[in-house]
Amino acid sequence: MADIELRRLVKEYPGGVRAVDGLDLTIADGEFFALLGPSGCGKTTLLRSIAGLETVTGGHILIGGRDVTGLAPGARDIAMVFQDYALFPHMTVRDNIAYPLRIRKMGRPERHAKAEETAEGLSLGGLLDRRPGQLSGGQQQRAALARAVACHPKVFLFDEPLSNLDARLRLEARTFLKRLQRDLGVTTVFVTHDQAEALAMSDRMAVMDAGRIRQIGTPTEVFQRPASTFVASFIGSTPMNLLDAVADRDTLRVAGTTLPLPAAAGPHVRDGEKLVFAARPEYMTLHREAEPTGIEGVVAIVENMGVGSLVSLEVPGGADGARIVQVTVPEGQEPEIGSRGWAVAAPERVLLYRHDDGELVG
Ligand code: ATP
Repeated sequence: MADIELRRLVKEYPGGVRAVDGLDLTIADGEFFALLGPSGCGKTTLLRSIAGLETVTGGHILIGGRDVTGLAPGARDIAMVFQDYALFPHMTVRDNIAYPLRIRKMGRPERHAKAEETAEGLSLGGLLDRRPGQLSGGQQQRAALARAVACHPKVFLFDEPLSNLDARLRLEARTFLKRLQRDLGVTTVFVTHDQAEALAMSDRMAVMDAGRIRQIGTPTEVFQRPASTFVASFIGSTPMNLLDAVADRDTLRVAGTTLPLPAAAGPHVRDGEKLVFAARPEYMTLHREAEPTGIEGVVAIVENMGVGSLVSLEVPGGADGARIVQVTVPEGQEPEIGSRGWAVAAPERVLLYRHDDGELVG
């Protein structure tokens, strides 16, 4: 068993920055757990603390029920890959990958076979006799990954391990890692800036902000029902539309339009309450003719997304003037810039947040 339990964990750097601020988190044995959050929210510090590379200033870290808070990194049975993959420059790729196996006293033929098998899985087969200085950044990153995963630890800790790879290699490495993790059942914590990666790979994910966790859930839960406007604005390759709204009996006034108040929200809002209307661009449709439940605006930008386009509509805003609502449209249905459009949200996909604290209604 290698579940990871963090209890009231605190890491305060000299100078008073609380990078991890009293964080409680349990990651189940064998789980693939992604950590997301804006730059500086404490993801790397949290990972380094689990690894034992940072001395925490409060709380406890348990791995498989054992308190490892005071243990050196080598005594924690974890493998790490960080952005700055430190390969041994004087060793070949083969010897780099086999190094942790040598430390574990695995025989030479066996560890070389293991190194070669792992290298193959990460498309490094032809590079085994090279030294790190003779590799590209992406190849070095994959070699570091291979070295980490070859020795089958209890826990993998990854900090942006695929950041230097191009789209195709990234996808390959993702598949390899996910399969390996699943086959071996290794508990994995994965820090990434790439939301698609977190959504695709993780069993559960957490969104962090200022040293704390704002939401934990499956990718689907976090994507479909962000718990706050903070998470809503952070998750999604195109940000969620967030517009000021006011409840008016059983309707909602938003951007010059009156919509039915979502039925589920009804019992939870006061008449006249200020709210935030939220809908993903993917859950809105663009109409050329007036629609009673459409938010009317003028097409300001049309961005090609490969399959379909993202249309930005300028809509009437509050005191600060015009606002933008984004809608995805299928290929071939792109509107003219400057034309009028009505953005209609699928009613079952609309979420409402409280204006004062940004928390989800209902
Ligand atoms: P990014 O996504 O940009 O890598 P992150 O979420 O991983 O960011 P951390 O690197 O953990 O964030 O940093 C969290 C906070 O701690 C930041 O405010 C950062 O400036 C601060 N910090 C990090 N390392 C140190 C240090 N050695 N000394 C003082 N402050 C630090």
